[in-house]
Amino acid sequence: MNEGAGVKAGLRDASWYASPGRARVYHVVNGDKPACNSNAVLIDEHSVCDAGTVPKHLRCHRPGCKQEWPSNED
Ligand SMILES: [Zn+2]
Repeated sequence: MNEGAGVKAGLRDASWYASPGRARVYHVVNGDKPACNSNAVLIDEHSVCDAGTVPKHLRCHRPGCKQEWPSNED
């Protein structure tokens, strides 16, 4: 069983975001906001997925998100 079941992740709504060349990272979803920044823009609901499926290199590592990612050592 995946101990991270139930944890969701998603991309921030980047419609305002003016750096198209920059890689987008997934954040753990806390309600409808990134777990690392409750003042941030909303998570794009269309991007929400199971946190365990997000590749490690695409995961946000800021405090708030970092400790919420399920471990999926392979
Ligand atoms: Zn984050």
